[in-house]
Amino acid sequence: MALRDFFISLSENEAISTAAQNYGFKLGAQHIVAGANLQEVIESVRTLNEQGIACTIDNLGEFVTEEATAIQAKDEILALIEAIHSEQLNAHISLKPSQLGLDIDIDFCYDNLHEIVEHANECGIFVNFDMEDSPRLQMTFDMLKELQKSFNNVGTVIQAYLHRAKGDIENFKDSRLRVVKGAYKESEEIAYQDQLEIDINFLELIEYHLTHGLFTSIATHDHNIINHVKYFVEQYNIPKEKFEFQLLYGFRKDLQVELAREGYQVCVYVPYGEDWYGYFMRLLAERPQNINLVTKRVFNK
Ligand code: FAD
Repeated sequence: MALRDFFISLSENEAISTAAQNYGFKLGAQHIVAGANLQEVIESVRTLNEQGIACTIDNLGEFVTEEATAIQAKDEILALIEAIHSEQLNAHISLKPSQLGLDIDIDFCYDNLHEIVEHANECGIFVNFDMEDSPRLQMTFDMLKELQKSFNNVGTVIQAYLHRAKGDIENFKDSRLRVVKGAYKESEEIAYQDQLEIDINFLELIEYHLTHGLFTSIATHDHNIINHVKYFVEQYNIPKEKFEFQLLYGFRKDLQVELAREGYQVCVYVPYGEDWYGYFMRLLAERPQNINLVTKRVFNK
């Protein structure tokens, strides 16, 4: 089994995930998770805002199978919206539909999302639906399309490894979109496996949305992609208000600050909460060197 597959299978292991939460098996995850609770994450966001960096905040959790857990997550996100609003933070929401009950019942999930998007809309806050693995993709797009009939403060993510991504980006060109390479294990029937093919598609999608779309969040740590985007926006006179670079909390902090100093809009994806295990394992899956980032900090404390 390849290392990537090994970590992805660990990310989906419920027993280990629960044990990790229960026994505080933190493995240094605190360096890439911005806090255990609302109060702690607000402090982290404030610090980033002071450096001229916006945030998208994710209350960690996914693949929920109990209604009560999904409702608890919804309540937490509503409280987060309140906090962003009352503390006047430069931040918006990222969420995973499977945390809000997508695997239980789509109507139940839709109602939860509706409540969140409606409340965020009242507070002038944007909500982004993270894109999960392919079985959940069309349902996520369908719920988004339905919500966009009433609200314009909601968008999603386009994954460049998927063959269908060009059609999807065209379909949602009037939305604010985050474009990424894609983080899950998908089959060759539906997804590019070759890194170069993914990178080429990634750049084409970014260029398309920059020139035809509403607002583009370019979410990557890849300096080659970032440098290409800088060159492209210069060539096509794309104003800096029309796009941002997004990076994950704890990753390439130097680059985050450097981009902000150069005058680009930078937004950091800030996860918080107890349910960090799946997120953490996917990060190890896609870049095993990430383990260095974590272990070095654990042992150098
Ligand atoms: P990679 O392909 O991992 O790396 C390319 C090159 O970049 C590396 O070879 C190295 O040279 C350089 N590099 C990368 N990381 C580092 C580092 N830490 N330090 C130094 N150099 C580095 N995926 C989804 O499927 N759905 C989502 O909703 C989603 N949301 C995301 C939101 C954000 C803000 C980000 C940043 C990613 C998100 N992803 C999401 C994950 C994404 O799909 C990729 O899996 C992930 O970002 C890894 O790809 P990459 O473009 O960062 O570069």
